[in-house]
Amino acid sequence: MPASLNRRQLLGTLAGTSFAGTLGGISAAQTESASITVPVSSRSFETEILVCGGGPAGFSAATNAARLGRKILLLERYGRLGGMGVNARVWPLMGGVNSPFVKEVHNKIGGNGFDPEQADLHYADLLEQAGAKILLHTWVTEPLMEGNRIVGVKAICKEGILTIRAELVIDATGDADIAAAAGVPFDIGRDGDGLVQPMSIMFAVEGVADDAKHCGSEEAARGAKINGTETWETVTAQAQKNGELPDTIGVVRTYKMGRKGKACVNATQINRLYGTKVEDLTKAELECRRQAFRVVEFMRKHLPGYENCYVSHMPTVIGVRETRRIRGLEQLKREDLITGRKWDNAVVRESQFAIDIHNPDGGGQAENQNDTAIQGGAVQVKPYDIPLTCMIPQKVEGLLVAGRCISGTHDAHASYRVQNICMAMGAGAGVAAATALNDKTELAAVNIEKVQKILFHSKPQL
Ligand SMILES: Cc1cc2nc3c(=O)[nH]c(=O)nc-3n(C[C@H](O)[C@H](O)[C@H](O)COP(=O)(O)OP(=O)(O)OC[C@H]3O[C@@H](n4cnc5c(N)ncnc54)[C@H](O)[C@@H]3O)c2cc1C
Repeated sequence: MPASLNRRQLLGTLAGTSFAGTLGGISAAQTESASITVPVSSRSFETEILVCGGGPAGFSAATNAARLGRKILLLERYGRLGGMGVNARVWPLMGGVNSPFVKEVHNKIGGNGFDPEQADLHYADLLEQAGAKILLHTWVTEPLMEGNRIVGVKAICKEGILTIRAELVIDATGDADIAAAAGVPFDIGRDGDGLVQPMSIMFAVEGVADDAKHCGSEEAARGAKINGTETWETVTAQAQKNGELPDTIGVVRTYKMGRKGKACVNATQINRLYGTKVEDLTKAELECRRQAFRVVEFMRKHLPGYENCYVSHMPTVIGVRETRRIRGLEQLKREDLITGRKWDNAVVRESQFAIDIHNPDGGGQAENQNDTAIQGGAVQVKPYDIPLTCMIPQKVEGLLVAGRCISGTHDAHASYRVQNICMAMGAGAGVAAATALNDKTELAAVNIEKVQKILFHSKPQL
């Protein structure tokens, strides 16, 4: 390459054209200037139902609404669909629920032990086959309001600002970003001190022996004998005491993954930080990634079968368990879960997952705690319903909220936040939104029998 080529000439040469030619229709001169000028454009879209967020709740909402013939646009800030399960490597899918759609998803992705490397593409297939349009790398920044009605959003992407107008909006951001910005009241954290469940980096290791121990919960850690005498719980507590592990790590949970020699590790945690504050997120990312390597050293030393394990997959982003919970027309409460309450306007039926509160203030599970941080235990629930009215926010019209940020108490959230239940909520929101548009009714007045008939009597598409 001649040393005297200037930048324009070089671009032309690399493209296999003369420097006066074009790169895929863009002239070399334009490319050069684009590389030093921030590209700010403004494009507009119109859709019928706009879904913000492509996690379990979001992709389910968009797929179900599209299947009912509506025009759907889904916006996702990251490059992959699947939310925490894909981008934060949260594994496996948990929670029981009576939902033909969730059953269908499981058949497609291989059940609770899904492959996080591919799940996002399965979710994209579902969306595309239903006719929904997807825009990845698009971060929703603010709602467009007409009085107390949401009529769309603004979003930012590499092109600049996008303006999207929609008849109905579904907030499936996990954090209720859109609802909060639109003026929906919300709560954060537990009563009293407002603390939330800790954030964690979940990661995968390889090099695990076939007969290695797996302790997926505190209960399992309590029973699992290590080296014949001590339990995994005691070994972990000792490591906490002598500084081998940070004192926020109450239990090191390991789950055997589908592939030989591979396990998923859920152990790192950082307390007293908020997943909607950027300094807190920054601190949590760095601290928990550092913790992950300490955990691996600890496992190599103490956990039989993990002597040669190494970190094989780190998540793209930290796992955030709990942020905003909107205030809706109804609120799901701890008692509703423990008694297995049924609702006439249920859009999710027979949800089942323990009230699993990871201690907001230190290591271990918060419930039933006594002296040491790792002697917790999750409170069991009876199969319970989730009513549509927990997804319809107060104060703002034209908006539904689905996923972990629906209207519920801190305790109730600790149960329904798991992925299978969030998918079922998404399906409920998608069908309710499409039915409301089809029948030209407000969301609060939607024909619930019609919605339930579609949700619960439809045959899974296998
Ligand atoms: C460490 C950890 C361990 C967990 N363990 C398990 C487990 O083992 N099994 C289980 O089933 N669940 C587990 N959970 C819970 C579960 O992963 C989440 O609660 C669940 O994914 C929530 O689903 P969602 O769709 O409401 O939100 P999310 O999964 O958070 O999805 C929200 C989506 O919206 C996108 N988004 C957010 N804001 C914007 C915006 N402004 N614009 C555009 N897009 C946006 C996000 O990128 C994301 O894709 C765990 C969670 C954590 C953090």
